[in-house]
Amino acid sequence: MGNVLAAGVIGVGYLGRFHAQKYARMPGVRLAGVADLNPERARRVGGELGVPSVADFQTLLPELDLVSVVTPTQNHSAVVAACLRAGVHVMVEKPMTATLEEARELIALAEAHRRVLQVGHIKRFHPTVCALQASGLLDKPRFIECHRLAPFKNRALDVDVVLDLMIHDVDLILHFVGSQVVDVEAVGAEVVTGRVDIAHARLRFANGCIAHVAASRLAREARRQTRIFQVDAMIELDFSEQTVMVRKRGSGEMVLDGVRLPAIVESRLPVPRHDPLEEELRSFVGAVRGEHPPVVSGSDGYAALEVVTAIRREIAAFTRDIPA
Ligand code: NAD
Repeated sequence: MGNVLAAGVIGVGYLGRFHAQKYARMPGVRLAGVADLNPERARRVGGELGVPSVADFQTLLPELDLVSVVTPTQNHSAVVAACLRAGVHVMVEKPMTATLEEARELIALAEAHRRVLQVGHIKRFHPTVCALQASGLLDKPRFIECHRLAPFKNRALDVDVVLDLMIHDVDLILHFVGSQVVDVEAVGAEVVTGRVDIAHARLRFANGCIAHVAASRLAREARRQTRIFQVDAMIELDFSEQTVMVRKRGSGEMVLDGVRLPAIVESRLPVPRHDPLEEELRSFVGAVRGEHPPVVSGSDGYAALEVVTAIRREIAAFTRDIPA
């Protein structure tokens, strides 16, 4: 391992506090400090971890090699730009920025300053997704179906369910399919928060794959599942149960309700447990050390935001067309 890298966290609210905890325990990394506009929050997290805390993140930058930006999405653009200009490698939470133009600017800035810019699409580091990747089973998906249904929580209500939850599946789908989106259809409804709380989207890809994504933050029970249909297999990821079930055509036949069908063989992939945030930040540090490119690059963050922007546009058009 090379030199010890100095890490910081900007925005230590709900999620940023966990980022700070992970860096504080990570080998080869020293948590140099945390910043939050809310000085009490900064002091609390700094105190918990025994590191300096500041209100103005700019004062922290000269000491840092790398930083997590975990502020509300509206100010990602300004904060990340300042970090990159100061020569600090950045891990920015998702959604990368509020607008596509801001995202393009950050990608250009990271390139100009030769800094790593990673985006916090944490589901790429989920144990089920890692198990699927390790299995080598993923092979030209034809149809993907995602459900991300969550009970109501008093969090992230400043954005709609598409930006908060659906973007996770959009990023995974783009990663799994590896083809251009050629068509987006979407519907949704504002129910209680004044923003879209339930949304369904259908993405069509240049290679013929179709993806159907459903997201809700008003579900009675959580359901976080993705089903991937390929020519040779159906793969089901359950993000809550942390399982991956595979159904493949076996040899011979089976009889179902008196009907002879080709035999289906069901198996479970081994899913080694790990902490996705810890893996994500460890991977970011590896990218900063030049060991590999960032697993979720600025361009990946941009691609997810672009599709999500199209989905939100479709939903806006759909809701405008509903008679009062
Ligand atoms: P939060 O409101 O709990 O925390 C944000 C913190 O940032 C606050 O303490 C606020 O005072 C601070 N802040 C705002 N502007 C600042 C600035 N200029 N300098 C320093 N501090 C500043 O929000 P949260 O729920 O932790 O979400 C933060 C980000 O993380 C959002 O972009 C959100 O979308 C993302 N997020 C991602 C996931 C995921 O699954 N990857 C989950 C939750 C949140």
